Amino acid sequence: MASIFTRIVTGDIPAIKLYEDDMTLAFMDINPASRGHALVISKAELPGLLDLPPEVLTAVALATQKVARALVTVLQPDGVNIVQNNGAAAGQTVFHYHVHIIPRWDGDGALGLWTPRPGDPAALRELAEQVKAQLS
Ligand code: 5GP
Repeated sequence: MASIFTRIVTGDIPAIKLYEDDMTLAFMDINPASRGHALVISKAELPGLLDLPPEVLTAVALATQKVARALVTVLQPDGVNIVQNNGAAAGQTVFHYHVHIIPRWDGDGALGLWTPRPGDPAALRELAEQVKAQLS
């Protein structure tokens, strides 16, 4: 069964579209966290960031910047969150790669992020060594 976003790409279900190119489509989120909340998706039905070939990742990043610039020009927000969820534990509900563009205004309370707390430096260093070994 095609994802809901593939059905938007194929025109089987409607969306309020903002931008389209060969590899990406941008449209308004149906449940906006703030005024102007938009989504940029890969036309290819790939679940998440870790699954993307470089050309798709690049195309979505470029489209995200293009649409974010237009939203900022139109809405003049105080800031913009770019949010991208991978996996249900991270809040992903549609398993078809997409980036959220969420315009923000001072004090709008539109989005809860994390509460920063100091990390244990030894644990951070140990984890960094494991990740660097994986990267090399
Ligand atoms: P996720 O939680 O997977 O990062 O985000 C999925 C987003 O897709 C949600 O913000 C949700 O409101 C949006 N969404 C889900 N179904 C539809 C739809 O049919 N049309 C539009 N425009 N947005 C949708």
